Amino acid sequence: MHLPLILLFMEPTMTSEHLSRLRFNFGFLIEAPLGAHRVIELDYPSVDVGDDVILSPLAGKFTATRTSEGVYLQGELHSATAVECARCLGEAEQKVTAVLKDLLFYPPETAPKEELTLDKEGYVDLAPLIRELSLLSIPINTICRPDCAGLCVTCGHNLNESDCGCDEKLIDPRMEVLQQLLK
Ligand SMILES: [Zn+2]
Ligand SMILES: [Zn+2]
Repeated sequence: MHLPLILLFMEPTMTSEHLSRLRFNFGFLIEAPLGAHRVIELDYPSVDVGDDVILSPLAGKFTATRTSEGVYLQGELHSATAVECARCLGEAEQKVTAVLKDLLFYPPETAPKEELTLDKEGYVDLAPLIRELSLLSIPINTICRPDCAGLCVTCGHNLNESDCGCDEKLIDPRMEVLQQLLK
């Protein structure tokens, strides 16, 4: 699958503390009767969801429901992240939506192979999942702003910053021929 380049935003002192914000304990739901549920609301100014992606802000809510098999999650989170502008290669802010649906977390004792599972204490870190869902919602050709001028095709200068002075007429050889004729 093709994913757009994500700018590196590695923090020098990244610890598990950063990721723990998306770590939840659903152990109480495993103990609860079928149909029991809890609505979880998130409203973070910024969350690391992996060493290459920061979601800023991250807000929304989801419902965790006890089903006969485990804990079912459903909801929607809204965020934005920095990606590379397809025109000028500068930084572009891309809004992202992580849709949580059809997510069933099994208790480890009864989890079929390859399925999502809670750990022994009932915890799950949703960061990797939310990272993946967010990346999937990013279009390939994000641009930094509607009127991004892009890069000069002759010298590669970022034309949003300044004019490079290249003679743009040289871009089109037909124009050059025409100019020769006019002389
Ligand atoms: Zn741009
Ligand atoms: Zn140029």
